[in-house]
Parts: sequence; structure tokens; C-alpha cells
Amino acid sequence: MPKQLQPQNPSYRLFPPSTPLKERIFNRTIPDSKTGCWLWTACLDSKGYGHLGHNGHDLAAHRVAYEEFVGPIPQNLCVLHKCDTPRCCNPAHLFLGTQDDNMKDAARKCRKGNKLCASQVVEILSDTRVHQVIANDYGVSGVLISAIKRRVIWKGVHG
Ligand SMILES: [Zn+2]
Repeated sequence: MPKQLQPQNPSYRLFPPSTPLKERIFNRTIPDSKTGCWLWTACLDSKGYGHLGHNGHDLAAHRVAYEEFVGPIPQNLCVLHKCDTPRCCNPAHLFLGTQDDNMKDAARKCRKGNKLCASQVVEILSDTRVHQVIANDYGVSGVLISAIKRRVIWKGVHG
């Protein structure tokens, strides 16, 4: 990545509508020297993704960063994070994947240490597919899915 592509400290000034999106990204992110992430400092949504308003649209900051620095996002593809940091806008940390990849990626990251998250257990409880199919989706065993469904484990979580 060229040297000049570095975020500046956010100044929180209001931008005129004509401000290029690149400049807005530089002004709304701070670099994390440990990870190299460009951390979005403005609005975040409930999942931790950065958001910005542009021409009356609410845009996801990491998607804008991808389009501005890498290229257009093909239809139906998601912009995923290599760094597991939803608010990161560093184009070098972003890559394209399908919605399916996105879910598998999230499931894989969520499962660090071979665990499922409560939110996944809720999804599994309402998933009516064959246990083994669900198990494949989450990369766990059918026995585990069956145990969740029978309320043997994760008893505290309700679907
Ligand atoms: Zn990052």
C-alpha cells in the first residue's frame, strides 16, 4: 500500500456533500499501530460496523473503503474482514466473499476454542433442517447439534 494512504486523526468537522469519500474515510478513522487496522471513529451499528451518511444513504464504512480503495463490490458479495474487526476500514484487511462465506467466517471466528456463541445456539434451535446439515454449516458434530436440540447443553439459551 502506498505511503500516502494513511488515515489522519479524525477532526470531526462536518463535510460538505462534495467531500470525496476517501477523504471522509481518512478523517473518520484512526490507525491502530498494533494491528494496522483503520478504526472507524464515527457512527457504529449494533454489530460494530462503521456507518456514514452520503447523499441521503446510510453506507457501511468498510464497504465504502473497499469500493474507494480496491474496486467495485460485485452484486450479492459481502466485504469481509481478515482482522475480525468490524469497524476496521483498512482496505488491506478487507476481502470479498458470499453471504454464505460471511456466515461461515463468522461461525468459525465465533467458535474459537470449539464453542458456539449463544446467538448461534438460538439460530440452531430454530433451524428445522436435518441435524447433520446444520452441523456441517457450523463446522461442529451432529452429536453437538442433537445435544443442543434436546436441551442437554446450552440450556440457558432459548430460541
Ligand atoms: Zn483491520
